[in-house]
Amino acid sequence: MSWSEKSSPCSRSAERTPGSAARRARLTARRLALVHPERSELEFRNPFQLLVAVVLSAQSTDRMANRLARVLLMRYPEPAALAAADPTEVERMIRPIGFFRTKSRSLIAATRMLMDRYGGKVPKTMEDLLRLPGVGRKTANAILGVGFGVPAMTTDRHLIRVALRLQLISDANPESVETHLHRLLPRGQWTPFSIRMTLHGRYVCLARRPLCDRCVLNDFCPSSTTADWPMVKRRELARLLTHTPIGAAVSP
Ligand code: SF4
Repeated sequence: MSWSEKSSPCSRSAERTPGSAARRARLTARRLALVHPERSELEFRNPFQLLVAVVLSAQSTDRMANRLARVLLMRYPEPAALAAADPTEVERMIRPIGFFRTKSRSLIAATRMLMDRYGGKVPKTMEDLLRLPGVGRKTANAILGVGFGVPAMTTDRHLIRVALRLQLISDANPESVETHLHRLLPRGQWTPFSIRMTLHGRYVCLARRPLCDRCVLNDFCPSSTTADWPMVKRRELARLLTHTPIGAAVSP
């Protein structure tokens, strides 16, 4: 059972948390905008590079995905080159990352489809992206939102964990999370909100031990471990943190 599924010190007081899920979602979007950039940590210069990085990042870290994407893209800088690659060579190059065989097959098959069906370009619609081998909704949303500027809610494990703790959602199914969060926030906020929720989950609302005493959401989060603090102190913390760069705020 994950931390978020257990009864947290404050989950008993969730019903005392003011406001609806929609209000908490809007407040979360506003607060996170003060401390996290609207920028994915994946490195890319064009949609093809982003596709490679997103596929590599599945079940791994962005740092590892960036490192191996750089190596791979140096050898295969264009979709045509990767589509014609020897799978065993691609496997060898991305071997340090989890599921390297599957990812190698997916990358080659996806770029072959780009060449055969889309003129060597990454398509710009969810429907077309989902046709590419190895591309699911999460990957497609990341490409649409970050690569093409189309409003998209990328529901990765970090976002889902934080949204559960904030009681913005009640189940962890990525598709229903996406639909539910779409209803809570205006379309224009989907991409920045999902990027920042991921960063917040990665650096503050950690899976095993969330850093609630360094969290800008602690004064209204139903799962905050600072629930026994006086509200005036929780609000003061949020106020102080929103004037502090997140790097400094989370450093020991
Ligand atoms: S207060 Fe912040 S760190 Fe703590 S559970 Fe809530 S969102 Fe996560």
